[in-house]
Amino acid sequence: MNQSCTDLKAAPSTPQSQTEARPLVDPFGRAISYLRVSVTDRCDFRCVYCMAEDMSFLPKADLLTLEELDRLCSAFIARGTRKLRLTGGEPLVRRNIMRLFEGLARHLESGSLDELTLTTNGSRLGFFAPELAACGVRRINVSLDSREPETFKAITRRGDLAQVLKGIDAAQNAGLDVKINMVALKGVNEAEIVPMIRWAHARNMDLTLIEVMPMGAIEPERLDQYLPLSTVRAEIAKHFTLRDLAYRTGGPARYVEVAETGGRLGFITPLTHNFCESCNRVRVTCTGTLYMCLGQEDAADLRTPLRAAPSDALLHAAIEDAIARKPKGHDFKIDRAHKGPAVPRHMSVTGG
Ligand code: SAM
Ligand code: SF4
Repeated sequence: MNQSCTDLKAAPSTPQSQTEARPLVDPFGRAISYLRVSVTDRCDFRCVYCMAEDMSFLPKADLLTLEELDRLCSAFIARGTRKLRLTGGEPLVRRNIMRLFEGLARHLESGSLDELTLTTNGSRLGFFAPELAACGVRRINVSLDSREPETFKAITRRGDLAQVLKGIDAAQNAGLDVKINMVALKGVNEAEIVPMIRWAHARNMDLTLIEVMPMGAIEPERLDQYLPLSTVRAEIAKHFTLRDLAYRTGGPARYVEVAETGGRLGFITPLTHNFCESCNRVRVTCTGTLYMCLGQEDAADLRTPLRAAPSDALLHAAIEDAIARKPKGHDFKIDRAHKGPAVPRHMSVTGG
């Protein structure tokens, strides 16, 4: 569909009744102010902890169009979403994705959205960084698990480290604030964590370490990949002085300041420390399925109400019903008794 960016800007976004204008609050009193949208399940990498080597992807016809994605995001923004992250799969491989960013930028301009951002593997940043900045994107997350070309290739199966590093340069040159995400993998990139802290902080980038989560069937055993961040933190503390910070980005990361570098280091520890009590987010897949919790299977179909009528009334009703079922938390576990995935879908479906 070749609808122009101007058409996207005209998509309906204003709630039509008092009910539709009410902010979304779940049964545990948590206001839903953060939406993550996976705009594609496809990716140019096949990271070993994220995807199987021979992934099969959804037929393109199942995906929401860019116009539908815009309408869906706008409905959430009308109900109190202040932060919107586009993710994937790899969001920058979705055809014409810049049209979605350009359309959504109107919510930044109107003040109804505080932040429009993305999580990317960086492979196409060299190309898109200036356009992202022009759309009002200010901060981005780039996933980088290794700065050793061979390890990088082994983890991503098909990524090119030099291209990603050029992408990070391009993002910084375009004025974007870059945060690096690094999944800690036992025996794979453990030894690179301390050098990665030095490198990221010297370039004025925060670094967040992530525990591998048991999502989707993959070839390696999760237990073989899983490296508890409690162990990692103890190791880092042998090299640096770490001071706990109250700083939050609205996500589950807990931050410390590294005294020697002056930089920030985040820890996302879904397994060793459950962060669900402050969860303010929900996730939508590229087919319009709303997941109320990353670690639970309950989901709501938003594509049907979205396509059923040009008005958003049915969509708002479906969103409300779903938020009323948001569970208290996930129950991820990786140990000898729980080697399989906690949920059958891969992280690339809901976008991390
Ligand atoms: N392709 C983009 C990227 O890699 O940044 C966005 C999607 S990716 C699914 C989002 C984040 O999820 C990445 O930082 C990735 O490292 C992380 N991730 C993927 N699978 C994971 C898993 N099983 N456990 C923990 N983090 C995972
Ligand atoms: Fe692709 Fe990101 Fe998953 Fe790696 S982590 S396979 S880059 S979606």
